[in-house]
Amino acid sequence: MKYQPVIGLEVHVQLLTDTKIFCGCPTKFGSEPNSQTCPVCLGLPGALPVLNKKVVEFAIKAGLSTNCSITPRSIFARKNYFYPDLPKGYQISQFEDPICQRGWLDIQLEGQAVKRIGITRIHMEEDAGKLVHGDLPGLHDGSGVDLNRACTPLLEVVSEPDLRSSDEAVSYLKQLHQIVTWLGICDGNMEEGSFRCDANVSVMPVGSDTLGTRAEVKNVNSFKFVKQAIEYEIQRQIDLIEDGGTVVQETRLFDPNLGKTRSMRSKEEAHDYRYFPDPDLVPLVIDDEWVERSRRELPELPEQRRQRFITELGLPEYDAEVLTANRALSEYFEAGVAAHGNAKAVANWVMGEITRSLNDSGTAIQDCPVTPLLLAELLKLIDGGTISGKIAKTVFDEMWKSGKAPHVIVEEQGLVQVSDSGAIEAIIDGIMAANAGQVEEYRGGKEKVFGFFVGQVMKASKGKANPAVVNQLLLDKLKG
Ligand code: ADP
Ligand code: MG
Ligand code: ZN
Repeated sequence: MKYQPVIGLEVHVQLLTDTKIFCGCPTKFGSEPNSQTCPVCLGLPGALPVLNKKVVEFAIKAGLSTNCSITPRSIFARKNYFYPDLPKGYQISQFEDPICQRGWLDIQLEGQAVKRIGITRIHMEEDAGKLVHGDLPGLHDGSGVDLNRACTPLLEVVSEPDLRSSDEAVSYLKQLHQIVTWLGICDGNMEEGSFRCDANVSVMPVGSDTLGTRAEVKNVNSFKFVKQAIEYEIQRQIDLIEDGGTVVQETRLFDPNLGKTRSMRSKEEAHDYRYFPDPDLVPLVIDDEWVERSRRELPELPEQRRQRFITELGLPEYDAEVLTANRALSEYFEAGVAAHGNAKAVANWVMGEITRSLNDSGTAIQDCPVTPLLLAELLKLIDGGTISGKIAKTVFDEMWKSGKAPHVIVEEQGLVQVSDSGAIEAIIDGIMAANAGQVEEYRGGKEKVFGFFVGQVMKASKGKANPAVVNQLLLDKLKG
């Protein structure tokens, strides 16, 4: 039998607010354990939560950017369970009436039609603290509770079970990741858990319209692992069914070292969270004016910008895709175009030398030592014939190292292109005299030797001879 995989993703997005969701404690990562706590996030009796407005603003932005409706009156709920990192005994989350509902993202895999993936809901919630194990200050080989992370704001983005392969899941996830980082509401760091995903996976016979029983895979903290975990899980379920077994609803953990998932708890052991509205928090009312203001303040989103690069700047689709990979890169590119004018020339350099140098040195585009203005200046030197495209690469490397302006480097190192035919002719004459054999070969019809002469002239001029002039003069002279 053939099987159809079905996948739905639940993504936790940690928000980049300065303070926590229900108290004023800082959210900074990596501080001394329990140094960023107060009675609210410690869960002391009687302490009252106060909602951080920034969290609501970020949630609205995320919702509008994923085509959701914003709920006019949304409710916070208590999700009750016991764990040492959760001193209150419940997590404040949203259950019924989450802030964003019924959205979607369009994905497109190479060579396939655009496909719309439904987003069921986006809700706000607080994170729990964490347990630390080992040798701790004042505690040999023990376990401690660090509540610095408790009450850190999260969005949970829940998709419909619309995804049909691991590739579709990764494509959806990458797009969501791009949007939240683009909006500046999440740093997107998957290793540190700022953007983490649970994958719900089931299989059903092809043609069936009843979804199979799903397993929920936790702890997949990279795009690569998401793909691996889903593929492993699909195959595990198919093998199980083929062997006459049935898939049970359970939570599984992905082990990146083994590339496998294993059972964590079955449905029978699943929590009954006994959700109920949190009496400490009033309903959150968001009027149309607030929503419209947020909509107006949204930046141009990656997809719109990609389209504009194609239609307005005439970039090929590939370039537009690469240059909108993140917001800072697309802004760098646009600043370069504004200063130079030729979008394709700027695109080539940004995707070429700039990207290569950033990767080699592990530098972020925000810290690029060659600013868009300096890059534009370099391109103008090529346009004006002052330097050749080849020399420009040398100049670029020097700009990268020293941060100097290109015209300064060209002057200091005497890199001005030689276009003067007299000077080039002199070089050519010398090379022809020294290579009489090759001249004969060329004249005898072996045209390949032409490249040899070009190479010799460029070498003799230390790359400074204007290639167009060299070609023309060589053609004339070699003819004899
Ligand atoms: P829970 O909160 O218990 O995990 P939800 O009903 O909120 O349950 O569903 C969570 C996720 O599971 C959603 O992303 C949804 O799309 C997905 N999902 C639901 N049913 C299936 C299924 N049969 N196969 C795959 N994914 C599913
Ligand atoms: Mg779930
Ligand atoms: Zn606090």
